[in-house]
Amino acid sequence: MNTYVIATNNPHKLIEIRAILQTDKRKFCSMKQAGIATDPEETGQTFEENALIKARAACAASGLPALADDSGLEVDALGGAPGVRSARYCPGTDLDRTEYLLKKLEGVPTERRSAQFVSAIACVYPDGKELVVRGVCQGVVLTEIQGGGGFGYDPVFFVPEEQATFAQMSQERKNQISHRANALYLIRKELDCQGL
Ligand code: IMP
Repeated sequence: MNTYVIATNNPHKLIEIRAILQTDKRKFCSMKQAGIATDPEETGQTFEENALIKARAACAASGLPALADDSGLEVDALGGAPGVRSARYCPGTDLDRTEYLLKKLEGVPTERRSAQFVSAIACVYPDGKELVVRGVCQGVVLTEIQGGGGFGYDPVFFVPEEQATFAQMSQERKNQISHRANALYLIRKELDCQGL
């Protein structure tokens, strides 16, 4: 049995991660359950680097295998911004950052408003083994907010196949098609293949 510590303080992520990854051979505990409280500076230039930084810190602190994710929005017309800076694109609330993004994209036509949500998930083991995967979800940044659900940039991220923004979808549907879900399915495949 492998018990992993999940390097997040977000209870929603814990539920989502457990739902997809937990098996008879693989259990997941929170940082609180592991008796640790790490919050390393996310100094990486990529989502993968930041996920590894967080997983390494949790593994070192707990002595357990650790799993961490790092995510954000890459907008093509902005050269990939806000990217790893998604959570701190500008000061204020999620809504302030969403409005700031819309301002940056003012005058950009629909066909050039493509974007992707990205989630990197890293697993780090006490013996030094490291795994990292990237999941994406493609979409378009709308010119105005649509939908009241979700968080972050959800209300302006429109997924053409669903004809809805992340904020207009049920939580269940978002959890099936999101960047994080895609990354979780990829890491599950890796873990299963390697008997971890
Ligand atoms: P973190 O990796 O959970 O810290 O997410 C970084 C930032 O990316 C968040 O604060 C949001 O701004 C953005 N983000 C990541 N995933 C999502 C999502 O599913 N919806 C909306 N925004 C997201």
